[in-house]
Parts: sequence; structure tokens; C-alpha cells
Amino acid sequence: MNNTVQIDFLSLWQSVRSGATQLFQAVELLPDECECGDADAHLEGRCSCCGGHKQVSKAEGTGVNCAAILDRLRADIATLVKDFSSLAGPLEMAAMAGQRLELRRGVFLAASDLERIYEAFERVDHAVMGFRRTCAVPEFKRVKLRSAELRDQCERINADLEGEKSEKLQG
Ligand SMILES: [Zn+2]
Ligand SMILES: [Zn+2]
Repeated sequence: MNNTVQIDFLSLWQSVRSGATQLFQAVELLPDECECGDADAHLEGRCSCCGGHKQVSKAEGTGVNCAAILDRLRADIATLVKDFSSLAGPLEMAAMAGQRLELRRGVFLAASDLERIYEAFERVDHAVMGFRRTCAVPEFKRVKLRSAELRDQCERINADLEGEKSEKLQG
């Protein structure tokens, strides 16, 4: 694998990680309750419930577009999974075989890590689908919970990657 490929993986990983954080922060800014019943508009932070809510000012409200962040994150994770699979075989197979992808010199993302992120994202996605269907408060609370779990998962894995790197530097 050449260096250019490694750099691409690293920036892709950073993009997934920051996307997860952005999503977590964006959903936290939105009120749990959407009285107008327009779940899609609520997820984009542009329904009257969001604009009228004291947590989100009108100006800020337009910047909170969970749907757009979710789409970007979905695309980034799909690319990461696809690139990983093209090098290491299908994700489930790679996870079973304990395969790891080199993000940059000496820093490896394990197939099992990627699988955990993928699954955590799927749970966010399901929660969002549930909210789109019902526009109910418990469903939006679930979106917040699942987004927090995804963010935590990414941060945990990143801490491991950083730890690996510093061990390498020391050793
Ligand atoms: Zn609303
Ligand atoms: Zn709203």
C-alpha cells in the first residue's frame, strides 16, 4: 500500500469521527418535541418548533441540519467499509479474521472497530427512520441517545489509535 492511500484513509477516518461529533452536537441542539409533526423539517432544524424554541436561535437553527450531516456520515462510512473490504475482504469476514487496515504508518483500524462503527451508525439510522415515521418525543430521544453512542464509539476507537501511535513513538 502506498502513502497516498494511507493518507486518504486517515482523512476519511477523521471525517467519520468529526461527522459523528457534529451529528451528536446537532441533535442535542434540537428540542425533543416537534409539535408541528414535520419530522423531516425538524431534522433539518427548520420547522417552527426549532425556530421558536429557546435552545435554538433563528440564525443558529438554519445551521443545524441533522439530515445533511447524517447523509455525509453515511457516505463516509460506506466509503470506509468499501475500501476496507476491497483490501481485506468483506467486512464480516475481515472482522472474523481479525484483519486491520493501516490508516497511516503503524496506526491500524481493526475490522472489528469498523464493524462496531457501522452497527452504531445503523442504530442511529433506525432511530431516525422511527422518528421520521412518528415524529414522537421518545423517538427523538432515541436519536439523541444513539448519536451519543456513535460519537462515544468513535472517540473510544480514536483514543486506542492515538495510544497505539504514542506507544510506537516511545518504543
Ligand atoms: Zn416541528
Ligand atoms: Zn423542529
